[in-house]
Amino acid sequence: MRTDAELQALRNRWIGRSNSWTAAFMEALKTATPQQRKSLGKGANDLKKDVEAAIAERASALAATRRPKNAVDLTLPGRGLQLGHRHPLSLVRDEVIDIFTRLGYQVLEGPEIEDDYHNFEALNMPADHPARDMHDTLYLRTPLQPRSYGAEVPAGTKAAPLTLLRTHTSAMQIRHMEHNAPPVRLVAIGPVYRKDDLDLTHTPMFHQVEGLVVGKGITLADLKGTVSAMARALFGSAEVRFRPSFFPYTEPSAEVDIRCFKCAGAGCSLCKKSGWIEILGSGMVHPAVFEAVGYDSDAVTGFAFGMGVERVAQLKWGVGDIRLFYENDLRFLEQFGI
Ligand SMILES: [Zn+2]
Repeated sequence: MRTDAELQALRNRWIGRSNSWTAAFMEALKTATPQQRKSLGKGANDLKKDVEAAIAERASALAATRRPKNAVDLTLPGRGLQLGHRHPLSLVRDEVIDIFTRLGYQVLEGPEIEDDYHNFEALNMPADHPARDMHDTLYLRTPLQPRSYGAEVPAGTKAAPLTLLRTHTSAMQIRHMEHNAPPVRLVAIGPVYRKDDLDLTHTPMFHQVEGLVVGKGITLADLKGTVSAMARALFGSAEVRFRPSFFPYTEPSAEVDIRCFKCAGAGCSLCKKSGWIEILGSGMVHPAVFEAVGYDSDAVTGFAFGMGVERVAQLKWGVGDIRLFYENDLRFLEQFGI
């Protein structure tokens, strides 16, 4: 008998008040003669006492092996410590910051609530530019007073007193250049907001990293060298190609592709059989942007680029659905580094 329950079952079976061997014997004894009843009754009582004694002995043996209340069993394995994991987007952000810090860049963060001037107008996006369309931009219903978060809209601009959730980190270029003379070498990184529907590759909030370099004699070759260095550090692929594109704040503008790091250009599902993967948008800073911040566009040139942090993470780890980054499913998050 290993448990109290088993011992109790044994007690019930042999000497219980009903349905036991003893109870059945006592019942049968009623049909016996007085002489038989006397000797048989004594035998039954002796047997009952023996069974009781045996059960009591077993019960005390069981009690002796029972663990005292609140006892610590030192033979049990220890409880494993649950280590947290850093979020994949944090890993990419830190890697990008590390790459550019080593290249001598300054890292900036800025307000997520921006004014129209810094987000659009100073970046050469006049009031009728399609990017300002309500379908892309999330405006605040009640505009904030620019002073309340440190924005300074120069007097005489036509900017409407609109406040919005920044649609790109490029606003930080303007904020920095307004207060700092060239040369400039910065990366700005953080969340941006668009009126996008949620699907495999879009979320209304995502993260962007923005780079800006301004100085004397900065050329497209510097942009290409910088993007190649970043691609090598992030993906191990340094071959890049530029495709002509359009952004209001750069001229010329280019989309940048890197040679597919998975198939080395042979064509695979990651690069959609093209051998190239688009990673960022870039270009030479438009003179109108320099004019907006009071830089002499004859004296300095510069380049800028912008890249999606989620996109980098999706490419690096083959994550097909961007929504996984925001669902906080531990089975997903535990696959990344500490
Ligand atoms: Zn490929």
